[in-house]
Amino acid sequence: MNPYSTQFIEDDDIQAVINALQGHSLTQGNLTHEFEQKIADFIGVKYALAFNSATSALYASYKAINLDENHRAITSPISFVATANMMLECDSKPIFCDVKANGNIDEKSIKSYISNETKAVVSVDYGGNSVEADEIQKICKENNLVFISDSSHAFGSRYKNQKVGTLADITIFSFHAIKPITTAEGGMLVTNDSQIYEKAKLIRSHGMIKKELWNCDVKSSGFNFRMTELQAALGMSQLNKIDRFLNIREEIAKFYDKAFEGNPYFFTLHQHIKYFSTNHLYPIILAPEFWCSKEDIFKSLQKEGLGVQVHYKPINEFSLYKDILGETNLYNARDFYRAEISIPCHQKMNLEDARVSAEKILSVFEKFKVPSH
Ligand SMILES: *Cc1c(COP(=O)(O)O)cnc(C)c1O
Repeated sequence: MNPYSTQFIEDDDIQAVINALQGHSLTQGNLTHEFEQKIADFIGVKYALAFNSATSALYASYKAINLDENHRAITSPISFVATANMMLECDSKPIFCDVKANGNIDEKSIKSYISNETKAVVSVDYGGNSVEADEIQKICKENNLVFISDSSHAFGSRYKNQKVGTLADITIFSFHAIKPITTAEGGMLVTNDSQIYEKAKLIRSHGMIKKELWNCDVKSSGFNFRMTELQAALGMSQLNKIDRFLNIREEIAKFYDKAFEGNPYFFTLHQHIKYFSTNHLYPIILAPEFWCSKEDIFKSLQKEGLGVQVHYKPINEFSLYKDILGETNLYNARDFYRAEISIPCHQKMNLEDARVSAEKILSVFEKFKVPSH
């Protein structure tokens, strides 16, 4: 199976982890702090905080802005469920805003959802493609909202000439195994705001601060959301390769764009992307006449050894969210879900793999062609 995305671990990554294993400390220590500094430098922000996952980093960022039962956040239904689940864990509730044809939150619709209880906008850079950050930042400023970017797909992406991570008040990256670079499990919160940084840091580790000798104080409740030194070592080794990884992904995406040009079955999002993307996903968007055969198409693609996936079932359509929010009709999100398939695109592939994959995909669709009249 050629998966839609996968990790790429090389000898030096393995050696870095072995060295860390032989080090003085295995839990959050010097390597983690070094990793945080490198991420802060790479992105160009003041603060970076490493977490054991992006999910816990999201939780800490919501807590850090005091999202609670009296407040709500506007977010995208086309995301991994963690973006919204962590709001529920803060006793808050999401307000789902519909998406555009590229799967990103429709910045023009955000305003219509703002009320007195709205505290934040949490956007998602779908597939690595940056949201329209200037517009969202402007809406947030005008309405006194916090702009949080779940950029779990987008470590290394750009918006205009800026790096993703510098645009929102808080940005979250994921280093889950199949994200652009990995620490197996892991996440990072980046911000320029010292207060948010300090609060999130407390939540990461029991609300505890060290004082002199054995003395410490507990300032808030908290968790153990810490990253290990093994993960940080792997993360630093992977960070050295980010340009190579992203260039391979971009090359494959460009190859696909060409291979699929003018085909009657689907269009691709990548060809319309304005800003440099990690291409965490390479989504194809099926023409409506194929939507009812999507299950069979999906199965046929799997049979051909293609590890395809669908990103995402809209979060508002999960039973939990229907129970909490009632039925919400977000037509673009629903159509996006009906139409989307993510095909293999990752740094472990070469152009020959991409050629084989493209050929198989086109031949599968050929079989499902609706006869013309
Ligand atoms: C992967 C992902 C997460 C969760 O990341 P973890 O590191 O697995 O916790 C959150 N949001 C989005 C959009 C993701 O793709």
